[in-house]
Amino acid sequence: MDRTRLHRLLARESAEAERRNPRSRAAYEGAGNLFGRVPMTWMNKTAGAFPRYLATARGARVTDIDGHEYIDFCLGDTGAMAGHSPAPVTEAVQRRFAELGGATAMLPTEDAAWVGAELTRRFGPTHWSFALTATDANRWAIRLARAATGRPKILVNSYCYHGSVDESLIVVGPDGRGTARPGNVGAPCDVTLTSRVAEFNDLEQLERELAHGDVAAVLMEPALTNIGIVLPEAGYLAGVRALTRRYGTLLINDETHTLSAGPGGCTAAWDLEPDVVTVGKAIGGGIPAGAYGLSADLAARLLGRPDLDLVDMGGVGGTLAGNALSVAAMRATLEHVLTDEAFARMSKLSERFEAGVRAGIDAHGLPWSVSRLGARTEYRFTSPAPRTGSESAAASDPELEDYLHLYLANRGILLTPFHNMALMCPDTTEQDVDTHTGLFAAALTELLG
Ligand code: PMP
Repeated sequence: MDRTRLHRLLARESAEAERRNPRSRAAYEGAGNLFGRVPMTWMNKTAGAFPRYLATARGARVTDIDGHEYIDFCLGDTGAMAGHSPAPVTEAVQRRFAELGGATAMLPTEDAAWVGAELTRRFGPTHWSFALTATDANRWAIRLARAATGRPKILVNSYCYHGSVDESLIVVGPDGRGTARPGNVGAPCDVTLTSRVAEFNDLEQLERELAHGDVAAVLMEPALTNIGIVLPEAGYLAGVRALTRRYGTLLINDETHTLSAGPGGCTAAWDLEPDVVTVGKAIGGGIPAGAYGLSADLAARLLGRPDLDLVDMGGVGGTLAGNALSVAAMRATLEHVLTDEAFARMSKLSERFEAGVRAGIDAHGLPWSVSRLGARTEYRFTSPAPRTGSESAAASDPELEDYLHLYLANRGILLTPFHNMALMCPDTTEQDVDTHTGLFAAALTELLG
């Protein structure tokens, strides 16, 4: 690839973003009392010199304060997989908050039992508890796993992401041993004291680490989704389950992103048998929500322990977790929006998206790969598709990524920052997908001739 040409095109698209979005730029410049000028520092992860500011969002469309409309394939990096403000969730939230009143009264509502039963139907684990973020669902699941097993360590895959969970910020270093993930902010201790790490798709390395006998739980996504999509090879997930059972380690499946695989995530789609499932983001239809489900056996082990303070200040729980508004939103999302039928449609659209990307790649004979997990598709700048997180991390190309993101955004398409990822929601159309296919091809032609 001609890097000079890439730099020229990137500069052109950056200038075009500045020209198109003066109000967004002014809003950013006027936000000096925000740490990093943004509501959350990660919002600075955007192609271009400033983020576009949100005006409205409905279904698969968002508009910015400069008056531009976008087809949204980012969907809040999965938080809006149900589409933006879907009608059933809007109604349920309005009813709970405005008509009945009471978002946070420290009293349960009947919706929670419905949601627990539905999550059991979808994922398998029988005993559910709620959080407001997937990070917290993971943190509390980890504490429960430590309590149940009496072991100190958590094992994750290299280049995983499970939220800002201290134990998960570990990667396989150049010498093959665990080391802190680069950039880790204010780690409470050396991460190797709390964690072990293995490459995804590497059962030998996993067994070597589990054999130490100090791992309470493996916390993993059934397919990595935060370093591109890295799919499991045949037999890998069965091997993980067999090894965790052999070494007395619990298995936690984080389905926060892999929910894209179907109504019960990869756990249901691939008949997996984790001890715990954690999930968040999309299940609230845009309202903060998270959940963790325990197997009946694990729940009984924990509830039978008088030494564990599961009620007051023992370290599991949050005041607003499971609040009436969050639970009403989960019920509406699961009952009416992210239904079995919706997933079937979204997955078909995602196949069409994948085919469009592949056609663009093939037309230029590029050594890139594209991977799909149900409603979610992502491409990487390497071929064949990476087998591990570290392989996938090595294939990143931030300038190329910025060019593609900016080219598309300037023409009305949003991809997910941090990813070359496109997600389908129930409101996405074939026309939306084809619009992307056309613009992706055009961006490549400008770059490669
Ligand atoms: N688990 C996975 C697999 C995720 O991708 C993320 C966020 N991208 C999280 C957990 C954390 O979610 P949140 O930031 O909403 O807590």
